[in-house]
Amino acid sequence: MNLASIITQKAEETPTKLALENEDVRITYEQLERTINQTTHLFRQRGVVEGDRILLQLGNSLEFVYCYFAAVKCGAIIVPINPTYTAAAEITHIAFDSQPVLFVVDAAASENVQAVRENSDNLIDVILVDAQSSDNALLRAIQSLPTHCDPGVVDDERVCQILYTSGTTGKPKGAMLTHKGLRTNAMTYKDILHCSSDDYCLISSPLYHAASQTNCMLTMLVAGGTSYILPKYSTDKVLTLLEDKKVTFYFIPPSVVAMLLNHPRINERTLYLRIAFTGSAPMPVELLDRWKAVSGVELIEGYGLTECSPIVTSHRPEGKKKPGSIGTALPRVSVVIRDNEGKEMPSYEKGELTVKGPNVMKGYWKNEVATANTIRDVWLYTGDIAYQDDEGYLYIVDRKKDLVIRGGMNIYPREIEEVLYTHPDILEASVIGSPDPIMGEVVHAYFSTKDSSVTLTTDMLQRHCRPMLAPYKIPAYFTQLDELPKTTSGKILKPALRELVTRK
Ligand code: AMP
Repeated sequence: MNLASIITQKAEETPTKLALENEDVRITYEQLERTINQTTHLFRQRGVVEGDRILLQLGNSLEFVYCYFAAVKCGAIIVPINPTYTAAAEITHIAFDSQPVLFVVDAAASENVQAVRENSDNLIDVILVDAQSSDNALLRAIQSLPTHCDPGVVDDERVCQILYTSGTTGKPKGAMLTHKGLRTNAMTYKDILHCSSDDYCLISSPLYHAASQTNCMLTMLVAGGTSYILPKYSTDKVLTLLEDKKVTFYFIPPSVVAMLLNHPRINERTLYLRIAFTGSAPMPVELLDRWKAVSGVELIEGYGLTECSPIVTSHRPEGKKKPGSIGTALPRVSVVIRDNEGKEMPSYEKGELTVKGPNVMKGYWKNEVATANTIRDVWLYTGDIAYQDDEGYLYIVDRKKDLVIRGGMNIYPREIEEVLYTHPDILEASVIGSPDPIMGEVVHAYFSTKDSSVTLTTDMLQRHCRPMLAPYKIPAYFTQLDELPKTTSGKILKPALRELVTRK
């Protein structure tokens, strides 16, 4: 089955059900299917054929969804990228690597067109979309095109998306995801979270990222529910929408949990959430507890990575919740913890988390070396250090590359971050290793405070850590920032913190 068939099916079963909305537009499943078909005709007219890449640089919008599924119907490969990427850095590499035939770009990022032209020999057309306007170039171009079209390719083992991810090192690599991988991942997620057409989802995380795309957009579409697409995250707007739209299903990355909890009006809002789920970055237990106390809804933590379409594990709404754990493997997905030689580790012993299942990528686009390093014997090596308890619940200890080695002792930053989050004034914290001529590395903590006028000194914070951490783990340095650098998907950017250290 083609990934776009999930919409065709809903358009037949529940044509008048509301599929998507934003501040200005509401569209039903039938209208969604028709608009996707028109966009498919447009792409074909512009010369797109099976296997071609379509570079999509759009913010959260209905147009993102139309283009995504139209590319799928053409049998093309969608390459969604961060709307904030610039020509100087990421665009040049991604355009050169993926060689798109079509570049669909938000008017706000139009300065990137030249870089794509210069780096893709295949480029035949550019569609500039002012996605924030309901009268935009894409909608005008498709307006008189037929609303029906053939269902497109049916081989669901084929790649339908290349998602660029930094992985562990080097330039972003393109994870090749298949129709089947994405569809089964969304269907499984829908099943374990018992999603139905009664669910209303707020999408406030960027759709170019795997988490928002599968956990929210695809999961809601396979359930036949409704999604509100928020173009730009704002804590105030999210709180208003959660109440006004009676949102039942919401994906909240840890950084957003911190921001919502720190909002002065969080206690005044009535929430209708059935499922609030989190993941995509380490979730401090302190935040989990505070979220439950304030909202009355338990956060369901899961874990995934772009290379796995992305969901690998999750807690279940009805099952036992273990704070600090990422839950258990999804049905039909296998997880094994291994040592450096690839040998399976017993329960409670730490090793690298490896994954097998239909959701695992085919490999990295045009990068056999990286593929061979990451997928060995059908198992995908995630680069995350984890352990499993005797009930199959998994715990992420840290990323392999984030380990701090101080005088030969391994220190997992996550353990220290958890302790810093228990400080009543700390909003966010992140720990990295800072070079040291004697110890090799020492622990350096960066943090921001809930109230920016509050200053915390090294002495105050070391005293806070002392009862909870062995002396060698206590950060030697603490740096307070107004805000920690983050990706648009809400992950704290450790590489940016490392740069601060080198610039010091
Ligand atoms: P990405 O490919 O951008 O989705 O990033 C995937 C990475 O995010 C994983 O390899 C983990 O390091 C991290 N991650 C995702 N979910 C969790 C979680 N629940 N706890 C800790 N780390 C996570």
